[in-house]
Amino acid sequence: MVSTRSKYRRDIEDDMRRISTLENLISFVEIAMYKPEYGVAMTHLDVALSVSSAQRDTLQRYLPACLALTPNLAILELTITPPFTSFSFARIPLPYLEVVKSNLTHRSLAPFVSVRPRLQALDIAACGRTRKCPLSTVYVQQVTDIRCPLACVAGVVHDGVERLQLDHSRFATLPSTFLSKLPVVLGTVYVLTVDFTPDDDSILRAIAAHMPHIRDLKLIEYASSLVHKHAARPWHNHAGWSSALQRLTQLEQLVIRTSGSLGTVAGDHGAKRDVFCRWVGLAHPHPTLRYIMVWQHARSVHRGVLSEWSRADGSWKGKWTVTPDADQVSMLS
Ligand SMILES: [Zn+2]
Repeated sequence: MVSTRSKYRRDIEDDMRRISTLENLISFVEIAMYKPEYGVAMTHLDVALSVSSAQRDTLQRYLPACLALTPNLAILELTITPPFTSFSFARIPLPYLEVVKSNLTHRSLAPFVSVRPRLQALDIAACGRTRKCPLSTVYVQQVTDIRCPLACVAGVVHDGVERLQLDHSRFATLPSTFLSKLPVVLGTVYVLTVDFTPDDDSILRAIAAHMPHIRDLKLIEYASSLVHKHAARPWHNHAGWSSALQRLTQLEQLVIRTSGSLGTVAGDHGAKRDVFCRWVGLAHPHPTLRYIMVWQHARSVHRGVLSEWSRADGSWKGKWTVTPDADQVSMLS
């Protein structure tokens, strides 16, 4: 979920309600109709429902009613399985809505988000069956925190976005190809998390070209189990990788999760140091980079090797952990 959620969650924990069955939804609506202050007090609603085709009409009736009874919502999480295509609640006024997380198709979301002037964070799943992302026609300049599929990035993201998380969604297209379709340089993005594939040699170069001012970068490998752990990764091209890092002149933290490796012999810490030294530059040290973490052979928590390389007082130090615990890799899980 986009980061804004945690900020709000602390403030409004008492006013959050999770609805996980259709019966929950119906009883929520009935109580709120009888006791309006019950719905008015809600600021965070998390609706996660699996519905059969026979239950769709009931959902169509009760979901808009539920939203109409919770006018003070700041956070709405809406996950309907299978994904829902409905416009019946698009115009319900939710004047304080700031965060939306949903798996609705983007065609359904477009009319809903287009009338939310206070929306700050958007966390959305697959687009749906459309050739062009329907959100590309919607004005969401006020949204500064976005998580969306890479396939939709050119349509959804705009200059002014500060935090971005991009999920891989289409096997046939490299993540860097989606980034190269961005119509503008996103000079305001400073936090980026992006899925990459092992064969995407241009991923870091594409990031440097389109988001040159990022300070915090997480690269999450999106690999099928068929990809061999020894297959080449983008950083195995040392020169290209180092030169792209040098172009990210404000980068402070780089974190990578991969089922592959840094390309060194397991346990050879000297070789790992050499790799990291090349990344941060020897003759021309990177001006801002101060922390690198690579979780190698990362197929599940408690597996793999964590290699950390950090700079304090001008000198770099390494730390290597075999089988990291959940806390150490929580930012990458
Ligand atoms: Zn889309």
